[in-house]
Amino acid sequence: MDLEIKDLINSSIKSLTPYEPGKPIEDLEREYGIKNAVKLASNESPLGPSPKVLTALEEVISGVHRYPDGNGFRLKEALSSKHSVDMSVLTLGNGSNDIIEFVARCFLSPKDNAIYSKYAFAVYPLIVQALGAEGIEVEAKDWGHDLQSMLEAINKDTKIVFIANPNNPTGTFIKKNEMIRFLEKVPSQVIVLLDQAYFDYSNYESEDVSFSLVEDFPNLVISRTFSKAYGLAGLRVGYSVSSSNIADYLNRVRQPFNVNSLALAAAESALKDDEHLEKCLRINKDEKERLYKYFISHGYDYIESFANFVSFDCKDNSNEVFKSLLPKGVIARSMDIYKMPNHLRVTIGLPEENSIFMESLTSLNES
Ligand SMILES: *Cc1c(COP(=O)(O)O)cnc(C)c1O
Repeated sequence: MDLEIKDLINSSIKSLTPYEPGKPIEDLEREYGIKNAVKLASNESPLGPSPKVLTALEEVISGVHRYPDGNGFRLKEALSSKHSVDMSVLTLGNGSNDIIEFVARCFLSPKDNAIYSKYAFAVYPLIVQALGAEGIEVEAKDWGHDLQSMLEAINKDTKIVFIANPNNPTGTFIKKNEMIRFLEKVPSQVIVLLDQAYFDYSNYESEDVSFSLVEDFPNLVISRTFSKAYGLAGLRVGYSVSSSNIADYLNRVRQPFNVNSLALAAAESALKDDEHLEKCLRINKDEKERLYKYFISHGYDYIESFANFVSFDCKDNSNEVFKSLLPKGVIARSMDIYKMPNHLRVTIGLPEENSIFMESLTSLNES
Protein backbone atom coordinates (compact mmCIF):
# COMPACT_ATOMS: atom_id res chain seq x y z
CA MET A 1 0.00 0.00 0.00
CA ASP A 2 1.48 3.36 -1.06
CA LEU A 3 -0.70 5.40 1.22
CA GLU A 4 1.34 7.04 3.95
CA ILE A 5 -0.12 7.79 7.33
CA LYS A 6 1.30 11.29 7.23
CA ASP A 7 -0.93 12.06 4.24
CA LEU A 8 -3.97 11.14 6.28
CA ILE A 9 -3.12 13.21 9.35
CA ASN A 10 -5.00 16.43 9.95
CA SER A 11 -2.64 19.20 8.77
CA SER A 12 -2.75 21.03 12.13
CA ILE A 13 -1.52 17.92 13.90
CA LYS A 14 1.14 17.01 11.34
CA SER A 15 3.47 19.86 12.31
CA LEU A 16 3.04 19.47 16.08
CA THR A 17 6.11 18.73 18.15
CA PRO A 18 5.19 16.86 21.33
CA TYR A 19 5.58 18.51 24.73
CA GLU A 20 8.89 17.41 26.17
CA PRO A 21 8.59 16.47 29.84
CA GLY A 22 11.38 16.65 32.41
CA LYS A 23 13.68 13.64 32.40
CA PRO A 24 12.41 10.93 34.78
CA ILE A 25 14.73 9.90 37.65
CA GLU A 26 14.52 6.21 36.66
CA ASP A 27 15.86 7.01 33.16
CA LEU A 28 18.87 8.83 34.54
CA GLU A 29 19.66 6.18 37.14
CA ARG A 30 19.42 3.44 34.51
CA GLU A 31 21.51 5.29 31.92
CA TYR A 32 24.34 6.29 34.28
CA GLY A 33 24.11 3.41 36.74
CA ILE A 34 23.76 5.86 39.63
CA LYS A 35 21.46 6.01 42.66
CA ASN A 36 19.80 8.82 44.59
CA ALA A 37 19.60 11.19 41.66
CA VAL A 38 18.00 14.56 42.34
CA LYS A 39 15.19 15.64 40.04
CA LEU A 40 14.73 19.39 39.95
CA ALA A 41 13.17 19.50 36.51
CA SER A 42 9.38 19.52 36.69
CA ASN A 43 8.43 21.86 39.54
CA GLU A 44 7.11 19.00 41.64
CA SER A 45 6.86 19.34 45.42
CA PRO A 46 9.99 17.91 47.03
CA LEU A 47 8.00 17.17 50.18
CA GLY A 48 5.52 14.88 48.49
CA PRO A 49 1.86 14.63 49.44
CA SER A 50 0.43 15.14 52.91
CA PRO A 51 0.32 12.00 55.10
CA LYS A 52 -3.46 12.55 55.16
CA VAL A 53 -3.49 11.92 51.41
CA LEU A 54 -1.69 8.60 51.81
CA THR A 55 -4.27 7.45 54.36
CA ALA A 56 -7.13 8.53 52.10
CA LEU A 57 -5.60 6.61 49.19
CA GLU A 58 -5.40 3.44 51.25
CA GLU A 59 -9.07 3.76 52.02
CA VAL A 60 -10.22 4.09 48.42
CA ILE A 61 -7.79 1.77 46.64
CA SER A 62 -9.90 -1.36 47.11
CA GLY A 63 -12.74 0.36 45.24
CA VAL A 64 -10.89 0.89 41.96
CA HIS A 65 -13.05 -1.67 40.12
CA ARG A 66 -15.81 0.98 40.24
CA TYR A 67 -15.92 3.99 37.94
CA PRO A 68 -15.13 7.24 39.75
CA ASP A 69 -17.83 9.80 40.53
CA GLY A 70 -18.05 11.45 37.11
CA ASN A 71 -19.16 14.71 38.70
CA GLY A 72 -16.54 14.69 41.42
CA PHE A 73 -19.16 15.77 43.94
CA ARG A 74 -17.09 15.40 47.11
CA LEU A 75 -14.04 17.21 45.75
CA LYS A 76 -16.24 19.97 44.38
CA GLU A 77 -17.95 20.27 47.74
CA ALA A 78 -14.57 20.53 49.49
CA LEU A 79 -13.33 23.16 47.00
CA SER A 80 -16.58 25.04 47.27
CA SER A 81 -16.39 25.35 51.03
CA LYS A 82 -12.64 26.06 51.09
CA HIS A 83 -12.86 28.85 48.54
CA SER A 84 -16.41 30.09 49.21
CA VAL A 85 -17.55 29.51 45.64
CA ASP A 86 -20.68 27.85 44.35
CA MET A 87 -20.20 24.28 43.13
CA SER A 88 -21.65 25.26 39.75
CA VAL A 89 -18.61 27.41 38.91
CA LEU A 90 -16.17 24.49 39.23
CA THR A 91 -14.82 22.23 36.49
CA LEU A 92 -12.48 19.37 37.34
CA GLY A 93 -9.62 18.39 35.07
CA ASN A 94 -7.16 15.53 34.62
CA GLY A 95 -4.48 17.99 35.68
CA SER A 96 -5.01 21.65 34.86
CA ASN A 97 -3.66 20.85 31.39
CA ASP A 98 -7.05 19.25 30.81
CA ILE A 99 -8.72 22.55 31.71
CA ILE A 100 -6.48 24.45 29.27
CA GLU A 101 -7.64 22.05 26.58
CA PHE A 102 -11.35 22.42 27.49
CA VAL A 103 -11.13 26.20 27.26
CA ALA A 104 -9.33 26.06 23.94
CA ARG A 105 -11.79 23.53 22.50
CA CYS A 106 -14.81 25.46 23.68
CA PHE A 107 -13.78 28.81 22.26
CA LEU A 108 -11.32 28.32 19.38
CA SER A 109 -12.22 27.55 15.78
CA PRO A 110 -9.73 27.51 12.89
CA LYS A 111 -10.49 31.11 11.89
CA ASP A 112 -9.80 32.41 15.42
CA ASN A 113 -6.64 33.39 17.22
CA ALA A 114 -5.33 33.13 20.76
CA ILE A 115 -2.70 35.31 22.40
CA TYR A 116 0.11 34.27 24.70
CA SER A 117 3.42 35.73 25.77
CA LYS A 118 6.89 34.80 24.62
CA TYR A 119 8.45 32.55 27.31
CA ALA A 120 4.99 31.41 28.43
CA PHE A 121 3.93 27.84 29.15
CA ALA A 122 4.65 25.53 26.17
CA VAL A 123 1.21 23.91 26.30
CA TYR A 124 -0.63 27.05 25.07
CA PRO A 125 0.86 27.18 21.55
CA LEU A 126 0.50 23.40 21.26
CA ILE A 127 -3.23 23.31 21.86
CA VAL A 128 -3.88 26.40 19.73
CA GLN A 129 -1.99 24.81 16.84
CA ALA A 130 -3.68 21.43 17.31
CA LEU A 131 -7.06 23.12 16.86
CA GLY A 132 -5.90 24.81 13.65
CA ALA A 133 -6.26 28.28 15.15
CA GLU A 134 -3.67 31.04 14.97
CA GLY A 135 -1.32 31.60 17.90
CA ILE A 136 -0.12 35.15 18.45
CA GLU A 137 3.04 35.35 20.53
CA VAL A 138 3.58 38.73 22.14
CA GLU A 139 7.09 39.95 22.97
CA ALA A 140 7.88 39.69 26.68
CA LYS A 141 8.96 42.48 29.02
CA ASP A 142 11.60 41.70 31.65
CA TRP A 143 10.99 37.97 30.98
CA GLY A 144 7.30 38.32 31.91
CA HIS A 145 3.97 39.25 30.33
CA ASP A 146 3.80 42.66 28.71
CA LEU A 147 0.12 43.21 29.41
CA GLN A 148 -0.11 46.46 27.43
CA SER A 149 1.29 44.76 24.31
CA MET A 150 -1.02 41.81 24.87
CA LEU A 151 -4.01 44.17 24.94
CA GLU A 152 -2.82 45.81 21.74
CA ALA A 153 -2.51 42.40 20.04
CA ILE A 154 -6.22 41.65 20.53
CA ASN A 155 -8.17 41.87 17.28
CA LYS A 156 -11.63 40.92 16.04
CA ASP A 157 -10.68 37.24 15.71
CA THR A 158 -9.16 36.91 19.18
CA LYS A 159 -10.98 34.44 21.38
CA ILE A 160 -8.55 33.67 24.21
CA VAL A 161 -5.71 35.37 26.05
CA PHE A 162 -3.56 32.95 28.05
CA ILE A 163 -1.81 34.31 31.14
CA ALA A 164 0.24 32.13 33.48
CA ASN A 165 0.71 33.93 36.77
CA PRO A 166 3.27 33.26 38.15
CA ASN A 167 4.67 32.45 34.75
CA ASN A 168 6.43 29.21 33.92
CA PRO A 169 9.36 29.00 32.96
CA THR A 170 10.42 32.45 34.16
CA GLY A 171 8.67 32.74 37.55
CA THR A 172 7.64 36.35 36.91
CA PHE A 173 4.53 37.64 38.64
CA ILE A 174 1.87 40.23 37.82
CA LYS A 175 0.71 41.93 41.01
CA LYS A 176 -2.95 41.94 41.95
CA ASN A 177 -3.76 45.56 41.03
CA GLU A 178 -2.03 45.35 37.69
CA MET A 179 -3.93 42.16 36.87
CA ILE A 180 -7.26 43.79 37.71
CA ARG A 181 -6.45 46.87 35.59
CA PHE A 182 -5.62 44.52 32.68
CA LEU A 183 -8.87 42.57 33.05
CA GLU A 184 -10.83 45.83 33.02
CA LYS A 185 -9.41 46.63 29.60
CA VAL A 186 -9.89 43.23 27.93
CA PRO A 187 -12.98 43.29 25.70
CA SER A 188 -15.75 41.21 27.27
CA GLN A 189 -15.98 38.85 24.27
CA VAL A 190 -12.39 37.69 24.80
CA ILE A 191 -11.82 34.86 27.29
CA VAL A 192 -8.91 35.28 29.69
CA LEU A 193 -7.50 31.99 30.94
CA LEU A 194 -5.60 32.88 34.07
CA ASP A 195 -3.42 29.88 34.82
CA GLN A 196 -2.62 29.94 38.54
CA ALA A 197 -0.68 26.67 38.72
CA TYR A 198 1.73 28.38 41.15
CA PHE A 199 -0.85 30.43 43.05
CA ASP A 200 -0.01 29.02 46.47
CA TYR A 201 3.61 30.16 46.14
CA SER A 202 2.85 33.65 44.85
CA ASN A 203 0.05 34.27 47.32
CA TYR A 204 2.43 33.31 50.14
CA GLU A 205 4.66 36.22 49.21
CA SER A 206 2.32 38.82 47.72
CA GLU A 207 -1.49 38.82 47.80
CA ASP A 208 -2.71 37.36 44.51
CA VAL A 209 -6.12 37.68 42.84
CA SER A 210 -8.75 35.35 44.23
CA PHE A 211 -11.63 33.43 42.65
CA SER A 212 -14.12 36.18 43.58
CA LEU A 213 -12.81 38.11 40.57
CA VAL A 214 -14.82 35.80 38.34
CA GLU A 215 -17.97 37.56 39.58
CA ASP A 216 -16.69 40.87 38.19
CA PHE A 217 -15.34 39.42 34.94
CA PRO A 218 -17.65 36.85 33.30
CA ASN A 219 -15.01 36.27 30.58
CA LEU A 220 -12.44 35.10 33.16
CA VAL A 221 -11.49 31.45 33.75
CA ILE A 222 -9.03 30.76 36.58
CA SER A 223 -7.29 27.38 36.68
CA ARG A 224 -5.36 25.81 39.54
CA THR A 225 -3.74 22.46 40.11
CA PHE A 226 -2.89 19.91 42.77
CA SER A 227 0.32 19.06 40.89
CA LYS A 228 2.61 21.65 42.42
CA ALA A 229 2.31 22.83 46.05
CA TYR A 230 -0.04 19.97 46.98
CA GLY A 231 2.38 17.35 45.66
CA LEU A 232 -0.05 15.29 43.56
CA ALA A 233 1.51 15.62 40.08
CA GLY A 234 1.38 11.87 39.45
CA LEU A 235 -2.35 11.65 40.09
CA ARG A 236 -3.36 14.35 37.59
CA VAL A 237 -5.97 16.64 39.10
CA GLY A 238 -6.70 20.32 38.56
CA TYR A 239 -9.76 22.54 38.33
CA SER A 240 -11.12 25.85 37.17
CA VAL A 241 -13.41 28.51 38.51
CA SER A 242 -15.43 30.45 35.96
CA SER A 243 -18.98 31.70 35.55
CA SER A 244 -21.39 28.76 35.87
CA ASN A 245 -22.33 29.49 32.29
CA ILE A 246 -18.79 28.82 31.04
CA ALA A 247 -18.40 25.88 33.45
CA ASP A 248 -21.45 24.29 31.86
CA TYR A 249 -19.73 24.32 28.44
CA LEU A 250 -16.36 23.21 29.80
CA ASN A 251 -18.12 20.23 31.34
CA ARG A 252 -19.63 19.32 27.97
CA VAL A 253 -16.23 18.75 26.36
CA ARG A 254 -14.88 16.90 29.40
CA GLN A 255 -14.59 13.11 29.17
CA PRO A 256 -17.14 11.53 31.54
CA PHE A 257 -14.57 10.12 33.99
CA ASN A 258 -11.62 12.42 33.40
CA VAL A 259 -10.52 12.50 37.06
CA ASN A 260 -9.92 9.06 38.55
CA SER A 261 -11.11 7.94 41.96
CA LEU A 262 -7.67 7.99 43.60
CA ALA A 263 -7.05 11.52 42.39
CA LEU A 264 -10.46 12.69 43.62
CA ALA A 265 -9.91 11.27 47.11
CA ALA A 266 -6.32 12.51 47.30
CA ALA A 267 -7.23 16.06 46.28
CA GLU A 268 -10.12 16.17 48.73
CA SER A 269 -7.91 15.16 51.64
CA ALA A 270 -5.00 17.36 50.52
CA LEU A 271 -7.27 20.37 51.01
CA LYS A 272 -7.62 19.45 54.68
CA ASP A 273 -3.92 19.67 55.51
CA ASP A 274 -3.05 23.36 55.70
CA GLU A 275 -0.07 22.60 57.88
CA HIS A 276 1.56 20.45 55.21
CA LEU A 277 0.98 23.12 52.58
CA GLU A 278 2.42 25.80 54.86
CA LYS A 279 5.52 23.66 55.46
CA CYS A 280 6.00 23.24 51.71
CA LEU A 281 5.68 26.99 51.10
CA ARG A 282 8.04 27.90 53.93
CA ILE A 283 10.76 25.51 52.74
CA ASN A 284 10.33 26.86 49.24
CA LYS A 285 10.76 30.47 50.36
CA ASP A 286 13.80 29.76 52.56
CA GLU A 287 15.49 27.63 49.93
CA LYS A 288 14.81 30.17 47.21
CA GLU A 289 16.71 32.75 49.27
CA ARG A 290 19.57 30.28 49.59
CA LEU A 291 19.66 29.70 45.84
CA TYR A 292 19.58 33.46 45.19
CA LYS A 293 22.56 33.95 47.50
CA TYR A 294 24.43 31.20 45.68
CA PHE A 295 23.66 32.72 42.27
CA ILE A 296 24.78 36.16 43.44
CA SER A 297 28.02 34.92 44.99
CA HIS A 298 28.85 32.86 41.89
CA GLY A 299 28.03 35.61 39.41
CA TYR A 300 24.90 34.09 37.85
CA ASP A 301 22.04 36.38 36.79
CA TYR A 302 18.72 34.92 37.88
CA ILE A 303 15.12 35.91 37.24
CA GLU A 304 13.31 36.73 40.47
CA SER A 305 10.67 34.03 40.92
CA PHE A 306 7.33 33.89 42.69
CA ALA A 307 7.03 30.14 42.14
CA ASN A 308 8.89 26.95 43.14
CA PHE A 309 11.67 27.22 40.57
CA VAL A 310 14.30 29.71 39.47
CA SER A 311 15.56 30.29 35.94
CA PHE A 312 19.08 31.63 35.69
CA ASP A 313 21.62 32.50 33.03
CA CYS A 314 24.08 29.60 33.25
CA LYS A 315 26.62 31.50 31.13
CA ASP A 316 26.75 28.70 28.58
CA ASN A 317 24.44 26.73 26.31
CA SER A 318 21.87 25.48 28.80
CA ASN A 319 21.47 22.16 27.06
CA GLU A 320 25.22 21.54 27.55
CA VAL A 321 25.02 22.48 31.22
CA PHE A 322 21.92 20.32 31.61
CA LYS A 323 23.82 17.37 30.11
CA SER A 324 26.93 17.97 32.22
CA LEU A 325 24.83 17.88 35.38
CA LEU A 326 23.29 14.49 34.54
CA PRO A 327 26.29 12.27 35.39
CA LYS A 328 26.45 14.13 38.71
CA GLY A 329 22.93 12.90 39.39
CA VAL A 330 21.17 16.24 38.94
CA ILE A 331 18.26 16.72 36.52
CA ALA A 332 17.54 20.39 35.82
CA ARG A 333 15.70 21.79 32.81
CA SER A 334 17.23 23.36 29.74
CA MET A 335 15.24 26.36 28.52
CA ASP A 336 16.27 26.22 24.89
CA ILE A 337 12.81 25.03 23.84
CA TYR A 338 11.55 28.28 25.37
CA LYS A 339 13.98 30.31 23.23
CA MET A 340 16.10 31.02 26.29
CA PRO A 341 19.24 29.16 25.15
CA ASN A 342 21.42 30.26 28.07
CA HIS A 343 18.87 29.77 30.83
CA LEU A 344 18.57 26.73 33.00
CA ARG A 345 15.50 26.26 35.18
CA VAL A 346 15.93 24.59 38.53
CA THR A 347 13.03 23.48 40.71
CA ILE A 348 13.52 24.39 44.36
CA GLY A 349 14.01 21.12 46.20
CA LEU A 350 14.70 20.08 49.77
CA PRO A 351 17.76 21.70 51.40
CA GLU A 352 19.99 18.68 50.75
CA GLU A 353 18.84 18.42 47.12
CA ASN A 354 19.58 22.09 46.49
CA SER A 355 23.00 21.66 48.07
CA ILE A 356 23.77 18.82 45.67
CA PHE A 357 22.63 21.00 42.77
CA MET A 358 24.80 23.95 43.86
CA GLU A 359 27.87 21.79 44.52
CA SER A 360 27.45 20.07 41.14
CA LEU A 361 27.14 23.36 39.29
CA THR A 362 30.20 24.75 41.06
CA SER A 363 32.21 21.62 40.26
CA LEU A 364 31.41 21.97 36.53
CA ASN A 365 33.35 25.19 36.43
CA GLU A 366 36.28 23.77 38.37
CA SER A 367 36.80 20.79 36.11
C1 LIG B 1 2.77 22.75 35.91
C2 LIG B 1 1.90 23.71 35.20
C3 LIG B 1 0.55 23.44 35.02
C4 LIG B 1 -0.08 22.26 35.69
O1 LIG B 1 -0.14 21.16 34.99
P1 LIG B 1 -1.06 19.95 35.52
O2 LIG B 1 -1.69 19.47 34.29
O3 LIG B 1 -2.05 20.53 36.48
O4 LIG B 1 -0.13 19.02 36.17
C5 LIG B 1 -0.25 24.36 34.39
N1 LIG B 1 0.25 25.52 33.97
C6 LIG B 1 1.54 25.84 34.15
C7 LIG B 1 2.02 27.17 33.73
C8 LIG B 1 2.41 24.93 34.76
O5 LIG B 1 3.69 25.23 34.92
